[in-house]
Amino acid sequence: MEKQIILEARSICKSFYNPVKVDVLKDVSFKLSRGDYASIIGKSGSGKSTLLYILSTMDTEFSGTLLINGVDVKNKSDMELADIRNEQIGFVFQFHYLLNEFTALKNVMLPGYKLNKVSEEELEHNAFKLLKNLGIDGLAHKMAYQLSGGEKQRVAIARAMINDPLIIMCDEPTGNLDNKNSEIVFNIFKELTETYNKTLLVVTHDLDFAHKTERIIELDDGKIVDR
Ligand code: ADP
Ligand code: MG
Repeated sequence: MEKQIILEARSICKSFYNPVKVDVLKDVSFKLSRGDYASIIGKSGSGKSTLLYILSTMDTEFSGTLLINGVDVKNKSDMELADIRNEQIGFVFQFHYLLNEFTALKNVMLPGYKLNKVSEEELEHNAFKLLKNLGIDGLAHKMAYQLSGGEKQRVAIARAMINDPLIIMCDEPTGNLDNKNSEIVFNIFKELTETYNKTLLVVTHDLDFAHKTERIIELDDGKIVDR
């Protein structure tokens, strides 16, 4: 059976004007299928974050085509794009952006309130189950500021999963972690692709991490390097 294409970039180009035109992404094309575990690598300034910003529908000023689960995101309203992000994309960043004065459990629940598809009771149940799967249910009622860096990142991963997205996009998710915690995060992502059939797209400058993923997309000066 053909695998479902979750994300497809077709000839994406992006330029900044500051004030002269600088071409930052040049004809970027690739596809990600359901369950793929891919990393994006490249030197600083090669366009990784710019690309992720476009792929996550946050930046709509580009030429080319972006399909998310078969839907062309061009000409969607801001509201429609916000819905696509809420329902289909989970985010994990270098800095976790947890709300410090909320418990781990509440932090995981937050994107669920926004989506508003299940009762608060069910949402709490789902959040707890995610924390349990990540081995940190014991931390559910701790405040975010009481957690270590590695624990916070695991809470951020649970939060990214709460709306059951198709794809999780990450920008330097291990940038702030030691080797042991980086490996824990790598293995959690692997588990999400294998057990939950999630698609993982991870921007990273950690080559050890990247080489363990199934697929590497390398950017050099805004172009994909053939490998
Ligand atoms: P990476 O994440 O790979 O380090 P970026 O995507 O952040 O690279 O940046 C790619 C290039 O685009 C860099 O040359 C950067 O200076 C430029 N750039 C990024 N954002 C902007 C912006 N808002 N305005 C102008 N130039 C930008
Ligand atoms: Mg970057």
